[in-house]
Amino acid sequence: MRLFTFTCPLCGAQRQRFPMRTAWKRRAQVSCRECGIDVRSDPPLGTYLLYVLYAEVITLLASLALVVAYVTSKWAWLGAIWLVAIVLCWFPGAIRHARSPIVRAMPDPNRSYARRPSTDGIAEPKQGRSAS
Ligand SMILES: [Zn+2]
Repeated sequence: MRLFTFTCPLCGAQRQRFPMRTAWKRRAQVSCRECGIDVRSDPPLGTYLLYVLYAEVITLLASLALVVAYVTSKWAWLGAIWLVAIVLCWFPGAIRHARSPIVRAMPDPNRSYARRPSTDGIAEPKQGRSAS
């Protein structure tokens, strides 16, 4: 199910997913399971507008079908139509988020991503990390 999952841009932890309730939103945000940073999806605006249009068509069709089912007292159909409409709106929304570029929700306040690992053997002064 790679359609619904994404990889963390910082630590590379795979098979993460956004919460179900964020599928309808413009952007989805979640904390990485491994490193804990907040990442969000960044889908293009055009994709979002297409999705909104699609969801509105689905909602319109579903509401018409719901009215027919209500008038004819077919209660099982009422529930089934409701469920199908939710699923039809949720799947493209979740895929849209997971397949879009994943970026950090906010810039790192410590700028730690700019720090390079010092593995070249030269002893660097450990600033502010003295043993207490
Ligand atoms: Zn991570």
